[in-house]
Amino acid sequence: MKAVRFHEHGGPDVLRYEDAPESVPTPTQVQLAVRAVALNHLDVWLRKGLPGITVPLPKIGGCDIAGEVIAVGALCSRVAVGQRILVSPGISCGQCAACLGGDDNLCRAYKLIGGYAMDGGCAERICIPEVNCIPIPEGVGYPEAAAVPVAFLTAWNMLVRQARLKAGEDVLVMGAGSGVGTAAIQIAKLFGARVIAVAGTDEKLAKAKALGADEGINHARQDLPQEIRRLTGKRGVDVVFEHVGGATWGKLIPNIAAGGRLVTCGATAGYEGTVDIRYLFSKTIAILGAFLGRKADMLEVVRHLARGSLRPVIDRTLPLADCAEAHRLLEARAVFGKLVLIP
Ligand code: ZN
Repeated sequence: MKAVRFHEHGGPDVLRYEDAPESVPTPTQVQLAVRAVALNHLDVWLRKGLPGITVPLPKIGGCDIAGEVIAVGALCSRVAVGQRILVSPGISCGQCAACLGGDDNLCRAYKLIGGYAMDGGCAERICIPEVNCIPIPEGVGYPEAAAVPVAFLTAWNMLVRQARLKAGEDVLVMGAGSGVGTAAIQIAKLFGARVIAVAGTDEKLAKAKALGADEGINHARQDLPQEIRRLTGKRGVDVVFEHVGGATWGKLIPNIAAGGRLVTCGATAGYEGTVDIRYLFSKTIAILGAFLGRKADMLEVVRHLARGSLRPVIDRTLPLADCAEAHRLLEARAVFGKLVLIP
């Protein structure tokens, strides 16, 4: 089969569209013909390589997968050949206290399909556990289905489960044009919050408002802390939806309202941020982390996808062979929403 692999870490040029061995499903796995795979920043990190983390090479990335079932293992009973499937991206042991308590993403054995330890869906075919198969709702296409899992599951976990967002609260969505940002805007509106979107271009802010954002801050030409104070009457925001990291933290923490929360799922601009601890205790501010989310929350997201109350935003689709170009676009932040590759 054809797949996009890299044999060494480096720039987008290390991605090769080439022949790769195809696996056969184990008794508890199904084989999918991949119809669409969406990219995440994780794909960029994996390709570049991270200190202290060994990625088995050659590697196939891609954790947001939608496809058609073409073979099922002998012990599979729930999924049938021909079914349209979106892939729940996390794999956990299913037996530990975390898994049995519903927090499968806190399982010590938690792995991501297409993450560090497992090959992903930037390929014509993939075998995945039957338990990871979620039927794609009627009327939802493969590219839309592939654009959902990582972005919406993460944003849901961050806002609903971790930050416990309430109606009427002010949410600052950093990187509003990213996949996870476009998901966050919609989820925050679904829960009745007021959304202040932050992005680096007016074009992205206009699109964020079309998605439901109430206000926009262009961090390239406006002073972020000053705008937060202006838009909240100096009160600060209740929730900061963060995934940028770096120097931004020092500007955000003082502009969180008393009882507020900063919730983060990433650090694309830098691993270290400064926190003036006085704000945390004097205003009872919480800093929360989130890595993907519970599978139960994934199923809830898919219910909203079926009803049309949440909709993935696709910047564009590209052929799988153009994966390197997609990585360049993602790194240049020249996208609004998700980039989806079609094998
Ligand atoms: Zn477990």
